Amino acid sequence: MYKYVLMLLVGALFVPLSAKQKKTTPPHVTVVFVIDQFAYHYLSKIKPFFKHGIKMLFDKGIVYDDAHHPLGVPETAPGHHSISTGTLPKYHGVVYNSWTSMTDYSKTRYEIDTTPQADILRDAGEKQPGASPHHTKVDGLSDQFMYLAHGSDRYAAYSFSLKMHPVISCANRLGKAFWLDSKTGLFTSSKVYFDALPEWAVVFNNKHKHATTKPFHWKTVYPHNSPAYAFPYARDYEHAGAPLGMITEDGKPLTIPGVSPYELFVRSPQSMDLLLGLAKTAVDNLYDAGKDRLLLFISLSNLDLCGHTYGPDSMECIDILYHLDKQIADFMGNINEIFGAKNALYVLTGDHGICPIPEITAKKGYHPARRILAKQMITEMNALVEKKYGLAGFVKTYEPTFFVIDQEALRAAGRAQGRSIMHDLKHFLLGQRGIKKVWTRQEIAQLPFQPDDLEQFYKNQLYKDRNGDLTIMTEPYSLVTHYENGTSHSSPYDYDTHVPLVIYQKGSLEHKRITEKVWVPQLSHTIARILGVMRPSASPYKPLPGIV
Ligand SMILES: [Zn+2]
Repeated sequence: MYKYVLMLLVGALFVPLSAKQKKTTPPHVTVVFVIDQFAYHYLSKIKPFFKHGIKMLFDKGIVYDDAHHPLGVPETAPGHHSISTGTLPKYHGVVYNSWTSMTDYSKTRYEIDTTPQADILRDAGEKQPGASPHHTKVDGLSDQFMYLAHGSDRYAAYSFSLKMHPVISCANRLGKAFWLDSKTGLFTSSKVYFDALPEWAVVFNNKHKHATTKPFHWKTVYPHNSPAYAFPYARDYEHAGAPLGMITEDGKPLTIPGVSPYELFVRSPQSMDLLLGLAKTAVDNLYDAGKDRLLLFISLSNLDLCGHTYGPDSMECIDILYHLDKQIADFMGNINEIFGAKNALYVLTGDHGICPIPEITAKKGYHPARRILAKQMITEMNALVEKKYGLAGFVKTYEPTFFVIDQEALRAAGRAQGRSIMHDLKHFLLGQRGIKKVWTRQEIAQLPFQPDDLEQFYKNQLYKDRNGDLTIMTEPYSLVTHYENGTSHSSPYDYDTHVPLVIYQKGSLEHKRITEKVWVPQLSHTIARILGVMRPSASPYKPLPGIV
């Protein structure tokens, strides 16, 4: 009996490693797919219709069911920074895609850099301001990966997107960024990354120089009458940002009055073929040049562009994801062929989610959902202040999700009257249907919130002078916006912050489902740990659970 118990105990001590935890082999290539605006809520409807790459990652990877961006205004630049720097806007400084100056009320786009060192690489076309990560106040994963490369030219960190700000958010200072130049329809970069575009990129551009202006027909993955699209309001364009949908019934080349061929192209499934084609060309050329340790960020933007216009219920957005399912599989196939499947680490996530079009949510029966027009709010707020205090134009502008006050007028009003005006404006806003909370900047900074509190997400987004004066939190599914149609992502609610997150490396990081709540910024430390590099230095987060 004792002998039997002893054997059991010894057996328990020597459980083979593989039965409990598999050994992780550092990958040779890491590909982080960021589907722009990939809200978790898509999955409940359309996951059964994924058949290729997205399905494979969900079936075989380590799947995080409850991953969130801890942001009150989850936008593209802060969302990509969450992923690449592993930290919060209060540290990295990129509070939104753009912010308003508190002195002259001009707008600063995150990526724009007017110094000559940041000039955009372009042979022709009008002069444009340059681009660089100069507003990012911390290092990121690409920087850490390239620190490791000191003394070795085997390493490369590249980022690709149709848009500038996501790639610059991911390339950081030591990686390389490529995006599509809206003026020329060609891929480009900035002088902070290259003296001139690499030859392979020039050849790629020449081969595809008419890609963005050619007429095209949007061919859906499934037949139009398939259950894959049979969801309520999938073809409801009454409150969409364009008068017509992009998926036509007759198969004719697509035109929409007032929308340029380029604007149609970047919303189409074809645009991702072009982007992934460039990324594949880059990988082939880097590998041939002896760079066999790669970190790639691929930000897939067409869902975001369509999502703002048509909303997440639309057939356009749903079909983009079906296309991406196949396009991602094809790209992974190429990577696996070069590096071997066991040497490739794949990550799939989103930079933020999306609020369904409020009018469609109301049509579905959730009547509190409403669109609140910022312009109308500003007009009424200014009328209130002018009537009571005799001050005109007191509220200058609105940026999701705060109002900017005329700083000089506020100072001139003096402390007591200034407080009284702000109190009246708060009272007015709190009286509006759809608005839940209003804080001054000082109030958010001082109020004690818990890390899980939705209010804390706004506090995470405070950085020096980059925020406005009166921040508002709406009720769920309501949207304060400049636009009379379409939708956006500007709240701390689940539909805007909850995104899919999957990590997969064949043979080592696979077959797990993690249901506990995790934060997307944990990903950066996790990848650093897997790659054996230091985490980005301002990341306060632990690695994700489930990774050995
Ligand atoms: Zn985005």
